[in-house]
Amino acid sequence: MKSETNRPAPLKKIKSVNAVLMKYLLLLAFLLIVLVEVICYFIVSNTSKDQANERLMHAGRDVVTYINGNGEGDVSSYIRLYRQEGINVYVLSPDGKILLPSDEASAEGSVVDIESIVKRLGGVQSEGSVLFTEKDKLNYATTVNYSGERSYVLATYSLRLLSHSLRILIIYFCIVGVIVLLVGALISYSISQKLSSGLKNLSTTAVKFSKGDFDVRFANAEYQELADLSDTLNSVRDEVKKSGDFQRELVANVSHDLKTPLTMIKAYASMIREISGNDPEKRDKHLQVIIDEADRLTGLVNDVLSVSKVSSKLDALNLKVFNLTEFLYGIINKFDYLQETQDYKFMVDIDVELYTRADAEKIGQVIYNLLGNAVNYTGEDKTVYISLKSSLTDDRIRFSVKDTGKGISKEDLHEIWDRYYRVKENHSRPVKGTGLGLNIVKIILQNHSFDFGVESDIGKGSLFWVDFPSVSKNIEVKN
Ligand code: ADP
Repeated sequence: MKSETNRPAPLKKIKSVNAVLMKYLLLLAFLLIVLVEVICYFIVSNTSKDQANERLMHAGRDVVTYINGNGEGDVSSYIRLYRQEGINVYVLSPDGKILLPSDEASAEGSVVDIESIVKRLGGVQSEGSVLFTEKDKLNYATTVNYSGERSYVLATYSLRLLSHSLRILIIYFCIVGVIVLLVGALISYSISQKLSSGLKNLSTTAVKFSKGDFDVRFANAEYQELADLSDTLNSVRDEVKKSGDFQRELVANVSHDLKTPLTMIKAYASMIREISGNDPEKRDKHLQVIIDEADRLTGLVNDVLSVSKVSSKLDALNLKVFNLTEFLYGIINKFDYLQETQDYKFMVDIDVELYTRADAEKIGQVIYNLLGNAVNYTGEDKTVYISLKSSLTDDRIRFSVKDTGKGISKEDLHEIWDRYYRVKENHSRPVKGTGLGLNIVKIILQNHSFDFGVESDIGKGSLFWVDFPSVSKNIEVKN
């Protein structure tokens, strides 16, 4: 029998930021050291060769000048001074014998390749001088008149001396390189530790956060990128916390709001069964209460559904051009029963034939919610002012609805748009609100990118406004 095991695919090896940073910082330090040292080596070796050439020429010319000025004098001791600097100077006879310094003078044949020198100088008759490298030596040769005879001055400097100094230089470079590399390793270790410790702190905090601790604070002010990441994580934390709070509030509010109408429905249904069943007048009244409470339940459920639909943006906007004037009248007419049965007054100031482009169904929700709030929160005079005016300056239609209620305090003004926000004790009469209405309004208008707002005076009332784009009636609309 064959058994199959599902082994996870081998994971790509995860690298540590610390190690990667160290590796690259050290590599960088190493490359810099090599580069600097190679450049230094070339500069030093070139300049020392130039300097040696310079010294050599100087010595040769010096000896010639000395011979020309002092005749034979004590040229040998003069030449010996140069020897201390590593420069050997010789006065040679035309056949290559050393004439000076006197202690090296030999009668035995040519000790240097005089022919090559003569050749380099350009022939027996030439008066010039020449610099050349031969057999690990730098050489300078020129002619001189010594003891009335045409002779040669040859100054030599051993290149081995030069390469010896360069070898010492390389050893120094190596020592300095190792020291710099060690210091670089220390610095890169501390930098990588610092950077990764910021990341480690954030990750530790994130683990706490993932376990449900919403009071954690992501903090890193040392590096810009980590500070930005901390800010982002802090706002994610706030959002998650808020949405958790919203969920808890949602359950609490919805269950609280469901409880009252359900209790009422149950109570009135029992009353009909036990008391008013045979009394048509009472029964109708009680049935009406049940119908009203059921409506309230429907409204609540619709609001909850609406808010989750508009905020999840599952519901795409269905934009079209429509007559906003007529549309508004249509909604106001739905409130007629309030004018007829409860003495509400709607004072309207509405321009004719205004067209806009929007999702009519959703704008209906917006207007309905704003009018509903104005009715709920207006003052004792039960008056609501509705206006729809086309702007004289730009292509905009301003809709506003004003009430005469208690108004909204400055602190509450920004928050009323939040989900489930309900100003405490603001209701002038028992209000059916859920605290979702203005949140739905906000999300719908934001999805349309329409401007909207509220102005309120404590004790005088509130004015909610929305700016719609004004469009021509005949505009072609392509959705
Ligand atoms: P609700 O269903 O409670 O009315 P909303 O989201 O529509 O919920 O409004 C949020 C809160 O804003 C209300 O509870 C109320 O306190 C305040 N509010 C809204 N409209 C008005 C208004 N016209 N006048 C005074 N307060 C208002």
